[in-house]
Amino acid sequence: MSTFIKLLARNRLAIFGAAVLGVIILLIVVTPLLPLPDPDATATADRFKRPFSDGFILGTDHLGRDLLSRLLWGTQLSLAVGLAAALIAGTVGAAIGIVAGYFGGRIDNVIMRAIDMLMAFPYILLALAIVAALGPGLLNALYAVAAVNIPFFARNVRGVTVSIAHKEFVDAARLSGMGHIRILTTEILPNVLPVVIIAMSTTIGWMILETAGLSFLGLGSQPPQADLGSMLGEARAALITAPHTSIVPGMMILLIVMSVNLLGDGVRDALDPRLRSGALSRPMAATLVRRDETPPEEAETEAVLSLENLQTRFEVGSRIYRAVGGVSLAINPGECVGLIGESGSGKSVTALSVMGLVASPPGIITGGAVRLNGQDLIGAPYRRLRALRGDRVAYIFQDPLSTLHPLYRVGDQLTEAIRVHHRISRDAAHERAVKLLEDVRIPNARARIRSYPHELSGGMRQRVAIAMALANEPEVIIADEPTTALDVTVQAQILKLLDDLRRDRGVSILFITHDFGVVGQLCDRVAVMYAGRIVEEGTTAEVLDAPAHPYTKRLIACVPELGAGRRELHAIPGLPPAVDQLPHGCAFAPRCHKATGLCATSEIELTGTGRKVRCILPEEDVA
Ligand code: ADP
Ligand code: MG
Repeated sequence: MSTFIKLLARNRLAIFGAAVLGVIILLIVVTPLLPLPDPDATATADRFKRPFSDGFILGTDHLGRDLLSRLLWGTQLSLAVGLAAALIAGTVGAAIGIVAGYFGGRIDNVIMRAIDMLMAFPYILLALAIVAALGPGLLNALYAVAAVNIPFFARNVRGVTVSIAHKEFVDAARLSGMGHIRILTTEILPNVLPVVIIAMSTTIGWMILETAGLSFLGLGSQPPQADLGSMLGEARAALITAPHTSIVPGMMILLIVMSVNLLGDGVRDALDPRLRSGALSRPMAATLVRRDETPPEEAETEAVLSLENLQTRFEVGSRIYRAVGGVSLAINPGECVGLIGESGSGKSVTALSVMGLVASPPGIITGGAVRLNGQDLIGAPYRRLRALRGDRVAYIFQDPLSTLHPLYRVGDQLTEAIRVHHRISRDAAHERAVKLLEDVRIPNARARIRSYPHELSGGMRQRVAIAMALANEPEVIIADEPTTALDVTVQAQILKLLDDLRRDRGVSILFITHDFGVVGQLCDRVAVMYAGRIVEEGTTAEVLDAPAHPYTKRLIACVPELGAGRRELHAIPGLPPAVDQLPHGCAFAPRCHKATGLCATSEIELTGTGRKVRCILPEEDVA
């Protein structure tokens, strides 16, 4: 709630709207207490008095009635009717939408076709028809305005309900034996409520206008009762001779609708969870860079990709999450380097920082360098990053179902990946896509290219994702846990495929995983990451045979070995530290059985050349 207020307060226009609306509401609340003349008392002798004459602050109308008094009472009525119409339309519409979306099938069909029929008529015509049938009068105008707005709410809410009605938490509620009513009220309703509120806050202004419109036509409030629409309607005849009679209610309608809409937009922005997580701003095209120190000098290496003291953090409010705290890593041509660590150790953020793909806000790269063939990518112009993304450096992610677009055929997605970077004809791109699918050993590639992602199995989809990564023959592929979502046999096939591709094409791979078994199968070298830093690095054989850092040792002890007899598996006690409150010194010390007081006193350097370890009491001597 407080974040909602904070976000709303940051939106100046919304605050302005709230202030104007607040003043108007205050005025109409105190109206009965003000020494105002009767709004309906006519005095033909005082017709069309100008504002500020003879004690009439806003003048009088064609029957000599006090305009200020009529304005305030009329505003009260108009606001009340608009609000009531919005509440009715919102409640009824939401109820219809929830029922249709939740039950689906025939119920959904019948309800939504009825709603469609309502929507088939022009808005205002329908309202006019309803009032004509019910007879003129403010209450009937209210019903008419509410009725014509119900379809809008019903459609919106149905859409949201359909998307959550088959989510796991609803299934869980069903399994636990809850009835439909309980599920609708406790599981579905809280999830659609923000949508209803957002829709209401953005349409309430419209409903006030529509009610005013009906009154203007004489179908709403009946004389002598004043509302803003009827005041405007009655003033029509004297528009030229006594313009103030039109301007006064007109200005009020303008102020109300404007302030309601500004506030409504603000409420929508602050409530929308997608906008909220990004602190009301869209992520930028490339990660924000704020390097205080000059980047490290370029060293002479043969590495294709080298990270040098890379630091990436998330700034959320006053908290700073140091997700990557100075990572250095070099990948040579044709080499496969494993990056391993527990979940949350910063592997993905490291990988995404390379191409500036960490969402900003809240992500910021605060230091270090990422060199691709010697050229620093941190802070490179977006055009350059874009040209390199997917062309020189490609990514493979964990879940191919969410990286492939569900509505396009895999072939179209492949050709698109090629044509973004290369001007080649559609046919040539198509041929290339078939070739790529064959390269990743998809049987019957020419037919498979016409499949949609959902028609493929998990392993096939990941092959397609790999084919996309290969599309432009990149120098580096960054694979972020590409086999974690797959079962073991498929995982073995995918690893074999990656290994073959690397040998055939000489592409370098940064392979991210949390599984030492996978590292052993694929990687030449491995770096172990803990709490945003590399704690050990070396060739795979060295690290697996003789782990030097206590963390690595315990991580390896967690992996069961087939045929190794009965060996006790030891989970590492405790949890990784939260990266917004890292301990002083070694981050692993609180969980380490070897830790002494010395471990927590000062920074511990990564020592060694080639084989490196960040520990003052290593299990093995690496020097
Ligand atoms: P993993 O090693 O499992 O891939 P990540 O690189 O995804 O871990 O995350 C590293 C750390 O960064 C985690 O501790 C996570 O809490 C933090 N983090 C990631 N994204 C955000 C974010 N948007 N805001 C704050 N912290 C984040
Ligand atoms: Mg990850």
